[in-house]
Amino acid sequence: MSENMTEDSRVLDARYHMPAFGRTMKIVRGAGSRVWDDQGREYIDCVAGIAVCSTGHCHPAVVAAICDQAGRLIHCSNLYYVPNQAELAERLVGLTGLGKAFFSNSGAEANEGAIKLARVRTGRKKFVAFTHGFHGRTCGSLAVTHKPAIREPFEPLSPACTFVEYGDLDGLAEVVDTDTAGIFVEPVQGEAGVMIPPAGFFRGIRDICDDTGALMIVDEVQTGMGRTGKWLATQYTGVTPDIVTLAKGLASGFPIGALIAREGLEFTRSEHGSTFAGGPLACAAALATIDVIEEVLPTIPVKGERFLKGLARHNPRGCGLMIGMSVGDRCPEVQQACARDGVLVNCAADGNLRLIPPLVITDEEIDTAVDVVNAALG
Ligand SMILES: *Cc1c(COP(=O)(O)O)cnc(C)c1O
Repeated sequence: MSENMTEDSRVLDARYHMPAFGRTMKIVRGAGSRVWDDQGREYIDCVAGIAVCSTGHCHPAVVAAICDQAGRLIHCSNLYYVPNQAELAERLVGLTGLGKAFFSNSGAEANEGAIKLARVRTGRKKFVAFTHGFHGRTCGSLAVTHKPAIREPFEPLSPACTFVEYGDLDGLAEVVDTDTAGIFVEPVQGEAGVMIPPAGFFRGIRDICDDTGALMIVDEVQTGMGRTGKWLATQYTGVTPDIVTLAKGLASGFPIGALIAREGLEFTRSEHGSTFAGGPLACAAALATIDVIEEVLPTIPVKGERFLKGLARHNPRGCGLMIGMSVGDRCPEVQQACARDGVLVNCAADGNLRLIPPLVITDEEIDTAVDVVNAALG
């Protein structure tokens, strides 16, 4: 029976769904840091929906918030004041120290909003971003995403974007000019495989932005909402960006994105909009998520260290609960071996194994995951 389910899904997917994703297993249930596939096999989930399920799977407080709101009002449109939306904006402004928020439904859309905001408020056209950076798959966000294999088939894209080596401040200073609307940067590059920039990089970007009038746009879609041990990874640098974008960990898996900009930098009436963005359910899920993250936030650096210590012989890189290791061509094999032994991990770009578990992962689960990954790496 259960095997037939997998078979059915595979057959239906092959017949009716575009083959844009490579996948093998079907996950049918989750609780905390564990998921189960349709064969009843249990896994410790160090993928967490790609850094999305921050509070773990089906956290009771998040489930209750969604169910409660679903029984009152699911959608009403941004033509009206939306339940939970202003409350969430207030929370995010408080956590980030910025001025005002604007919601979207995904990370890419949050970055689209940032592109529009930077263009309309600076009156400038061009952007600068970094090698191996990832900002999304929509046309605008793809234009500032580096990886040629995913970007070039869709060119010409807008906005025009120049790419500079991640970490290279001299190179950045050379290309930013008075027609640069903004610089897109991740504090730790996630899709690239958890790449941590040199110290002083963010301070240097801030200075270049201050000198030229370009906006500093920090993409915290993956690093934000406690993932690295602070609400924003940028908060480790002492730098205040002009715009921050969020999405992945913000609502425990309910789709939402946000851009938050410094005071005075905002859309005026009719400049931007979205039918679904910042809806009552998404904002309820986000508010409940923030309450849970607030409780576990102080534990995240310690948990991250536990991973790094356990995996030390494989030279892991990490910041909080974002851990990456260069393992090369055998990354897919290692991923499969881990899955066979009950731990889900994922291969980011260029043979980099990535672990981005729920922020509520326990020490025991970390130790088991570390043993399994070590065994798979040999
Ligand atoms: C995942 C990701 C995005 C894109 O988010 P989507 O919700 O998939 O559109 C953008 N930036 C970064 C840093 C990401 O990790």
